[in-house]
Amino acid sequence: MSAELAGYAVSEANSSGRRRAEESPGIRTEFQRDRDRIIHSTAFRRLEYKTQVFVNHEGDLFRTRLTHSIEVAQIARSIARALRVNEDLAEGVAYAHDLGHTPFGHAGQDALNACMKEHGGFEHNLQSLRIVEELEEHYAEFDGLNLMYETREGILKHCSPRNARELGELGRRFLENRQPSLEAQLNNYADEIAYNNHDIDDGLRSGLITLEQIESVELVATHLKVVREKHPGLGGRRLIHETVRRLINAQALDLIRTSEAAIREVGIETLEDVRAASRLIGFSAEMHAALQPLKVFLREQLYWHYRVLREMAKARKIIEDLFDAFMNDPRLLPPQYLARCADDKPRVIADYIAGMTDRYAMKEHRRLFAIPGA
Ligand code: MG
Repeated sequence: MSAELAGYAVSEANSSGRRRAEESPGIRTEFQRDRDRIIHSTAFRRLEYKTQVFVNHEGDLFRTRLTHSIEVAQIARSIARALRVNEDLAEGVAYAHDLGHTPFGHAGQDALNACMKEHGGFEHNLQSLRIVEELEEHYAEFDGLNLMYETREGILKHCSPRNARELGELGRRFLENRQPSLEAQLNNYADEIAYNNHDIDDGLRSGLITLEQIESVELVATHLKVVREKHPGLGGRRLIHETVRRLINAQALDLIRTSEAAIREVGIETLEDVRAASRLIGFSAEMHAALQPLKVFLREQLYWHYRVLREMAKARKIIEDLFDAFMNDPRLLPPQYLARCADDKPRVIADYIAGMTDRYAMKEHRRLFAIPGA
C-alpha cells in the first residue's frame, strides 16, 4: 500500500518516530503497530460502556463510544484512501480520538472539568493523549503505548495555549499556528460526519425525534426525497438507513473533492508543505452551510431534549458526588489510586473517574452513597 501513498502522506520515512526507540515491528508497518496497540488497550475496551448521546443502559442498539469510534475509523479510512494518505494512521487516530472521554459523554466531561477548575481543569482530548502517553500499563519498559509522533499529534485535536506550552514539542503547532498531518485533519471531519448522521439514526430510533420533524432540515429532506422517488412505499428502518447512508456518502464525497482541489491548488507536495499551509481538509462552502441547520436541529431537538437532559443532570450529580467524596477522603479510593495521590491528588481522582464506564460510575456511586435497607 505504501507505494501508492502521495508525497504529502505521513510515512515511516518522514515520521518523527517514537519517543523510545523500539525494534521494527516486522511484517507490520509502524502505524499498523500503533493502531493495534490502541485496539489492545484497556481504555479502548472501556469505550463499549461509555455514553455517546444515550446512556448505555437505555438501549442495546444506540451508539456507544466504541461503535462511534469504529464508524469514525471506517469513514476516516475511506477518506484517507481516496486522498492517498496513510490509512493505518488515520484509522489508529480514529480509534484513539475518544479514549479520554468520561462516563456520560459531554455532561460527564463538563462536570469533571468544573470539579477540576482549581486544579488545572479536565479536557477529554488532552486526557486521550494522557492515556496513550502515561496511563496505560501494558509494557515492561515504558508507561503508555509509546506511539508514533504523528499518531499522538492526531489525537491532540485542540489545545489551550497554556496546555500547549506544557506539552512541549507536541503543543508547538498550536502556538506557531501550524497544521497537523492530513490524516489528523481528516479525522476531525470523519468524527463530525459519523456523529451528525448516527445521531439522526439514534434520535429516530429513540422516538425523541420524528421523521416529520427532521424533514425540516433541507439536507435531510433532499435525500429522503431521492429515496422515496426511487423506492415508493418504503418506510421504517429501511427508509431511514437508505437516507442516512446517502447523507454520509454525500458529505464524505464533498469533503474528498473539496480537499483534493485545495491540495492541488496550493501545490502541496510534501508533509512539510501540509504543516506550513493553512487547513487543507474541509467541506465546500455549500456543504458547510447545508450542515448548519442539521447541527442546530440535533442540538435543540435531541441533545437538549428534556429526557436526554434529565439523564445528563443525574450524570453530573454522580460525577460531582464521586469527586467530592474522594477529595474529602482519598482513603476511599482503590489502593492503587491512593498510592499515587501524593503526587497530585485531584489529577489522580480525575484519572480514576474519567476512566470509569457509565455503569461502573453508577455502581461506585451506589457503593459510596446507598444505605442498605434504608
Ligand atoms: Mg468522537
